[in-house]
Amino acid sequence: MSVSTYISAEKIQERINEIAHLVDIDYNGEEVVVIGVLNGAFMFVSDLIRAMQTPVYLDFIAVSSYEGTESTGKLKMLKDIKVDVKDKHVLIIEDIVDTGLTITKLKALMLERGPKSLKLASLLHKPSRTEHKVDIDYLGFEIEDKFVIGYGLDFNGLYRELPYIGEYSAS
Ligand code: 5GP
Repeated sequence: MSVSTYISAEKIQERINEIAHLVDIDYNGEEVVVIGVLNGAFMFVSDLIRAMQTPVYLDFIAVSSYEGTESTGKLKMLKDIKVDVKDKHVLIIEDIVDTGLTITKLKALMLERGPKSLKLASLLHKPSRTEHKVDIDYLGFEIEDKFVIGYGLDFNGLYRELPYIGEYSAS
């Protein structure tokens, strides 16, 4: 197997600084509840909130809409947030939007809880794989239909610690 660099650590940090600036302009000093989607978004969350000036109330959620590699179409809650988001600004932070299924269901669930506003930041998006169209308010990078790892993203639980996005190939 081999891993090649697809997006360098420097490029990621540059883009994060740009996104943080946009977030700060939009929230204009108001507090935001940041919901990081475990496990893949942990590194992006950590870097993005440190680059932001906006005051953050941080929580994490873990959900799954897949059994193995098969989509079940249903969202299974593995770990819910503790904070009540009613009348709060909420920013969901994801690692990657692939078919869009997971985030579509997660957004619907959060909207039922009555936030003041709901936005989405995703580090990566594979537009060619879209099955459920999602509005991504803050996007890091659009990528081709490749299986990527690193910077939080895993292959069978491994490679999350890499500081860059790599392309995984079995050969
Ligand atoms: P979706 O519901 O949008 O199809 O799937 C999103 C989830 O699939 C992501 O949160 C991530 O866990 C996983 N995923 C999709 N594409 C990739 C990829 O290229 N690499 C890795 N490591 N995970 C991916």
